[in-house]
Amino acid sequence: MSVLLIFPGRDPKIWVDAIKEQQPNVKLYVYPEEHNPEEITYAVTWKHPKGIFNKYSNLKVIASIGAGVDHIISDPEIPKKALITRIIDEQLTLDMSTFVLGLVLDKIRNISIHHGEKIWNPKAYSTAKEEKIGVMGLGVLGKAAAINLSKNGFEVSGWSKSQKQIEGVNTYHGQNGLNDFLKNTSILICLLPLTSETECILNKELFEKLPKGAYIINVARGEHLVEYDLLEMLDNGQLSGASLDVFRTEPLPEEHPFWKHPKVHISPHIASTTNPKQVAHQLMENYLRLKERKPLRNIVNLKKEY
Ligand code: NDP
Repeated sequence: MSVLLIFPGRDPKIWVDAIKEQQPNVKLYVYPEEHNPEEITYAVTWKHPKGIFNKYSNLKVIASIGAGVDHIISDPEIPKKALITRIIDEQLTLDMSTFVLGLVLDKIRNISIHHGEKIWNPKAYSTAKEEKIGVMGLGVLGKAAAINLSKNGFEVSGWSKSQKQIEGVNTYHGQNGLNDFLKNTSILICLLPLTSETECILNKELFEKLPKGAYIINVARGEHLVEYDLLEMLDNGQLSGASLDVFRTEPLPEEHPFWKHPKVHISPHIASTTNPKQVAHQLMENYLRLKERKPLRNIVNLKKEY
């Protein structure tokens, strides 16, 4: 019953320390250090090298260290019998809500624009009451972000796969609800998981259904966005701007047109970051549950892909 940590390109020490603090006796390996694959039952990972799980015949759980699991599910060779789990964490949720609120306030109050210009040029701003926020995805993060925006005086709508009732939020669902949801949205926030249904969902056809001058915030995954469609819609004025935290290639390449585009605001995938000390407990709780043959927490539905 050993644990394998797989974090290519990252310093695993902080994770090793956090896990050891929770479970000092757990047998822990950091990929690719030497280990016997037969011994590994529990893998904790972020962006593992594709195909490696093939040789772990006793692997029971693949645990994502983030809310998203697209980096695991996109590997066609993940063992069929392994369960996939993800992180659900209060701080992660709060961080996303406050970040999204910050981006919305920045947009309506022109904060970054004034900071960037460095000249005395007061611009007219809009207020919460004048904006209609639309949140795509009403899961753990989307729901909390929508409620927080509503509490801050915005008119908020949300769109999900199944029907929802959330106080203070107008809800829409499914393909049938999408057009009406978009029609009523001046600032669109993407908080969908990346799945085969949602990949490239932020495209020209969708942007054209928004009111002219709408603003896009993508804090979900880079693959949700068709980048050249965004550029076209920004340049022809259908969209007034975009705040992007996630990209198809991260770090965003130096030569990428987003860097220099005056209507694109970029942040380096920092909307909400997992704190190892904060989540080691839930990772080890599931490890113990696996040992004791109890049901695990935060299991991902592989059919739904999230
Ligand atoms: P959840 O799984 O809790 O929620 C997903 C939501 O999306 C659900 O409401 C679901 O609907 C909805 N949804 C899924 N597929 C569709 C579809 N085809 N059509 C309409 N709605 C759909 O996810 P989280 O809220 O925890 O996380 C969302 C994403 O945020 C993560 O997958 C990750 O990619 C991203 N993220 C980004 C971070 C960053 O720093 N930028 C940090 C953390 C996460 P239903 O409720 O009906 O199932």
